[in-house]
Amino acid sequence: MAIEDFLHPWKNLYRIAPSPVKRTLGQFYAALPMWVRYGKLLAQTRRLLDQSQGWSWEQHREYQWSLMSALLDHCLTNVPYYRKVAADLGIDRRQINSQDDWHRLPLLTKDMVRSLGMELVAENMRNKMLSSNTGGSTGQPLQLYWERGRTRSLERAFMWRQWAWGGFRYGQRTVVMRGQTVNEPLWHYDPIDKHLFVNSYNLTLDSAARIIRKLRQFRPVSIQAYPSIATTFAMMLNELGEPPIPSVKVLLCGSENLYPEQKRMLAEVLKARVYSWYGHGESCCLAGYCDQADYYHVYSEYGYTELVGPQGNVLPWTPGTRGEIVATSLIDDTMPLIRYRTGDIAVVGPEKCVCGRNYRLIERIEGRKQEYVVTADGRTISLTGLVFGQHWHAFSHIRKVQLVQEQAGRVCVRVVPTAEWNEHDEAEIRTKMNQCARGGLETTFELVDEIAPTSRGKHIFLVQKLTLPSAWAGEVADSQS
Ligand SMILES: [Zn+2]
Repeated sequence: MAIEDFLHPWKNLYRIAPSPVKRTLGQFYAALPMWVRYGKLLAQTRRLLDQSQGWSWEQHREYQWSLMSALLDHCLTNVPYYRKVAADLGIDRRQINSQDDWHRLPLLTKDMVRSLGMELVAENMRNKMLSSNTGGSTGQPLQLYWERGRTRSLERAFMWRQWAWGGFRYGQRTVVMRGQTVNEPLWHYDPIDKHLFVNSYNLTLDSAARIIRKLRQFRPVSIQAYPSIATTFAMMLNELGEPPIPSVKVLLCGSENLYPEQKRMLAEVLKARVYSWYGHGESCCLAGYCDQADYYHVYSEYGYTELVGPQGNVLPWTPGTRGEIVATSLIDDTMPLIRYRTGDIAVVGPEKCVCGRNYRLIERIEGRKQEYVVTADGRTISLTGLVFGQHWHAFSHIRKVQLVQEQAGRVCVRVVPTAEWNEHDEAEIRTKMNQCARGGLETTFELVDEIAPTSRGKHIFLVQKLTLPSAWAGEVADSQS
């Protein structure tokens, strides 16, 4: 049994405890063997994942189907919602015999999960529940339940393999810039995982200078970050004329879209590999770059991932197909999410990666449905195409940027400028955005002292106040493609 799961509810109390208390408790806890902390399942899953990365397509398919099939039986027996749905829709279990039949099951949305609540929780698992909640950028928390002693251990094993592909091994020192609550003004050190948590709510030019000094002394191998926070930090490193931190080999980016121009800039400033992974709090789909290529490898052992069109129709998994990620979790039986609509738009990558591993590939994640700007004539342009797919010289004079759209055909660019910002920057942005929008976008500028992060510490690049129902699937004037 994993004691980590018993301690999980007190995690936030530990985080905000005074430093000496944290140091003492943390060092004691860090000395415990991993099997005590996470149970034997962690080591078993790590061994499985070591092997499965060498499996053939057929082996992956067979293993995945064995999990899906067992999950479906479990849901139809133990989960009130799925029992009801099967009766209402006349779902015949005998007709669902492979991944190809999975589309017969209904889609599940975030709103449905919120309103169904305990109807989605398996009756035979209620004494093993671990409460978790996720909010994301929408700011509306979602109550989820995981399986105590299992889900978090599996999650860890997957994350460790993923990060190992990125060049970081568990036990090495890492800096975390992911919007966690940090009691101290600038950072706090957690000896349990050798994490230095940076207070990203307090990232000013002065604090950045002190944080950089601390990082040179701390010598981390990796930086785990929301891309938006890493971008702000890298821009400050640049503005201060500081060289990169030589010990940092990889920047591990997750939980937010990583745009091409952001990636280029981060790699240039940090002189490190910029590794990206895709995942979400609902634990249905996990995908990440490998050690050789920048494609998201979709982990078939973790979940079953499909792409659907705006009407929920399954799209073929062929290179270049764009659709919404729909996924079924294979690591949690407590609150099973089958065919969960993530609202994230992805584009399928090539059929096979140069690394030889047999995972489906995603070329890029375009982000949330709302991450599109609308032109005067109603076309939609992804933020990737409009801003981050191209190089702006003006980026070097910007500390933070945010687009706000309240009306089709108009966008306000809010900029926290550096001292070098000038009218040429404004002209460049206006021209390039207008070229991309083929004349359909009027741009205004607002220079501000600060752009506040969200309650979860993220920086929002586009505040889209228009409602865009499935706009991504219509005519997308995306200059990148
Ligand atoms: Zn690969």
